Amino acid sequence: MATTDFLVVGGGIVGISIARELRSRHPDLSVTVLEKEPACGRHASGRNSGVLHAGFYYTADSLKARFTRDGNLALRAYCERRGLPLNRCGKLVVARTSADHPQMDELLRRGAANGVELESITEAEARRIEPRVKTCERAIFSPHTATADPGAVLEAMREDAAREGIAFALADGFRRRRGDEIVTARGTWRAGYVVNAAGLQADRIARQYGFSEHYRILPFKGLYLYGAESAGPFRTNIYPVPDLRNPFLGVHFTVTVDGHAKIGPTAIPAFWREQYAGLAGFSLRDLVEIAGLQCGLLFSAGFEFRRLAFEELRKYDRRHLVSLAGELARDVHADDWRRWGRAGIRAQLLDVRTRKLEMDFVIEGDDRSMHVLNAVSPGWTCAIPFASYVVDAIAREASGRPSP
Ligand SMILES: Cc1cc2nc3c(=O)[nH]c(=O)nc-3n(C[C@H](O)[C@H](O)[C@H](O)COP(=O)(O)OP(=O)(O)OC[C@H]3O[C@@H](n4cnc5c(N)ncnc54)[C@H](O)[C@@H]3O)c2cc1C
Repeated sequence: MATTDFLVVGGGIVGISIARELRSRHPDLSVTVLEKEPACGRHASGRNSGVLHAGFYYTADSLKARFTRDGNLALRAYCERRGLPLNRCGKLVVARTSADHPQMDELLRRGAANGVELESITEAEARRIEPRVKTCERAIFSPHTATADPGAVLEAMREDAAREGIAFALADGFRRRRGDEIVTARGTWRAGYVVNAAGLQADRIARQYGFSEHYRILPFKGLYLYGAESAGPFRTNIYPVPDLRNPFLGVHFTVTVDGHAKIGPTAIPAFWREQYAGLAGFSLRDLVEIAGLQCGLLFSAGFEFRRLAFEELRKYDRRHLVSLAGELARDVHADDWRRWGRAGIRAQLLDVRTRKLEMDFVIEGDDRSMHVLNAVSPGWTCAIPFASYVVDAIAREASGRPSP
């Protein structure tokens, strides 16, 4: 039987950041990352948009507001220190009609409350930043939004973690809890403390420890479309004003770290948790559970799931997806946007009591285990300060202190 003081399940950016934080606070204790895939970053952490968000979408009382601004600074500093490329391209939030203006004002208020620098600019000023942008009268510019390569960031963090003495057990997934032991694909572990950062599978692991009882993960697929860019490269990210009632930001243009634009990601309801393409990752258990949840939501959701699902499913149609992006910029033609990129899947938490999607990060745990649920966007940006928050919670639970 293998033993370790801390066993972190999941080698995504959240798991690795937590492992590094544990190691730096407890240099004399052993930390192991258990990862079911043969390499780290095969799921959300390696398949996201690579946007270092600035932190103005979230209300000031949320964990997302607390960690996005600091996470942006921390991840930028990490990329600079490690020599990883950063595209400091900023971001424009545009209004499709004047009906978007009140929501824009709300974003400006949230930015101010969260201490995030934003500029409220005119249509002409927006065009000086990005000549192809379309907006109704005004726009918001976020100078601190940037992009990086998520795969390169994760690999650098994994290397740092290994150098710091963290062990990686790859291709070895958590199967089940057996008392104080953990049965994995390759054997059995005994751990002093278990941290569950298993992304799309986190709720199931949490339930083995008596947590996540009223939560289920609903997968939403994010597709990307790359363009031929015959109209020239984009200079900045362009986002619509989002519907702040749901956690997704709407179809947008992201400028990758190497200067190429992509449209997306969508948030299409998926039928199994790792439904990236075709029948890959098919799970009958997922299908039965998720189809049941989705059917229930179609008729009685605490949010507008029916409208969301219908609008999102239409985005499988490439021309429709391009036409939505065409509301944000000029010279966007379906014939130029043909290449689908690697999809990512959001591990979105649903509260089955209220039938609402959870908007914020959720952690649950006790003096034996801690479970990270709903580490959805902008979890990549937030990972470094969020890891510190999780390790503070572990320290409190382990010493029996109440939460502040
Ligand atoms: C399409 C998309 C776009 C996004 N864009 C952005 C963005 O631009 N900016 C941003 O800040 N955030 C973005 N996000 C969110 C961000 O990617 C996530 O918040 C973040 O990657 C979550 O990291 P994680 O470590 O929790 O999850 P993951 O990266 O999914 O890692 C979980 C790991 O656990 C492993 N695992 C699962 N089950 C087991 C098991 N039983 N045993 C062992 N290991 C297991 C998995 O293999 C995986 O490696 C995006 C997400 C998606 C899907």
